[in-house]
Amino acid sequence: ASVFEDIKAAPADVIFALTASYAADTYDKKVNLGVGAYRTEEGKPWVLPVVKKADHILVDDNNLDHEYLPILGQKAFREASAKLILGANSKALAEGRVGAAQCISGTGAVYTGAHFLSKHYPIKGAACYISKPTWANHRAIFEGVGIPVLEYPYWDPATKGLDLKGMLGAMQSAANGSIFLLHPCAHNPTGVDPTPDQWRQIADVMEAKGHFTFFDCAYQGFASGSLDKDAYSVRYFVERGFELFVAQSFSKNFGLYSERAGNLTVVAKTPEIKNRIESQIAKAQRAVISNPPAYGSRIVSTVLTNEKLYKEWEQNLSTMANRIIHMRKALFDELTRLQTPGKWNHIVDQIGMFSFTGLTTPQVKVLKEKYHVYLTDNGRISMAGLNSKNVKYFAQAVDYVVR
Ligand code: PLP
Repeated sequence: ASVFEDIKAAPADVIFALTASYAADTYDKKVNLGVGAYRTEEGKPWVLPVVKKADHILVDDNNLDHEYLPILGQKAFREASAKLILGANSKALAEGRVGAAQCISGTGAVYTGAHFLSKHYPIKGAACYISKPTWANHRAIFEGVGIPVLEYPYWDPATKGLDLKGMLGAMQSAANGSIFLLHPCAHNPTGVDPTPDQWRQIADVMEAKGHFTFFDCAYQGFASGSLDKDAYSVRYFVERGFELFVAQSFSKNFGLYSERAGNLTVVAKTPEIKNRIESQIAKAQRAVISNPPAYGSRIVSTVLTNEKLYKEWEQNLSTMANRIIHMRKALFDELTRLQTPGKWNHIVDQIGMFSFTGLTTPQVKVLKEKYHVYLTDNGRISMAGLNSKNVKYFAQAVDYVVR
């Protein structure tokens, strides 16, 4: 008999299962609005032109080898990542109290920060509050390291916008010193972000209650097309003196999904505390991945440390962000033209990779079975899956299911 005779099968991951069903579907008009990965007008993955250039530079570099990186990763990458999110003029950077650890993309950065908190957060049993709804991995990661997970209201179904009152209320009533996981921009799955004034109110409560801020930034530059604008909330919190973590992913903004390039930026009160935090992260990282993979981080640091390539990257980001913004408008226009019942302005008001359409689970089922349109049961669509060839088809399908 097997040692594992009694093992139970785990459920398949929803997003990856959706991609597999889509791939197996032979219908020629099928549409995949599940996975959060950028697609071109032709519905194809996009290797950013600036990434191709960085590729060539790396291939031609005779000084590169395949030696291990240090445990915390490539120095140039870590420094450039921290500077990217905090801004070149960040006081915290100048004061030497910013640390960084190269991680296995955004997921690894969230994990690394969560794991650190599970060992070293001074308030034992402190919960991590995640937005309702959020990226499914947030719960899985924090629960996985033994941190209790609670939710704060975020999405208001009535306005299809932010439930600020609910969010602030939950922050007020949470035990002092709770951990709050915040999306700095392009909230996944809703596409709804707080305004600067709302961020001020959030920061006021976070400060008054002594909560710890953990930003998960997977879409810098990808949301608005501006790296600075998308980093607003993080920089604002840092200016106000918060100690915080920022998990950064380069999957979306560099199109480096499979290369697993990510970083955990740590803003501490003093350089000395920063050093101690980094040393503990290094100790933990050694036992999990030993040291991070080099290739993706080399692409990123090559671009971030070269003025010309950096400018070109910003253009590539605009291309992606603008195509998505354009698709929001196209979908909205089409639904308006069809006089589809309901209000659809949230499609254009939301930002980033995703739109939370308000479509219900039964409607999603019909979309899949009758129209071969694949999306998650919560009605979230990846805007990048739309293009000028399929947006009319999708709008007609939506029109059908909501009538
Ligand atoms: N955090 C959020 C909110 C995300 O949406 C994603 C990707 O979908 C990630 C983190 C991490 O992605 P990756 O591990 O591919 O960098």
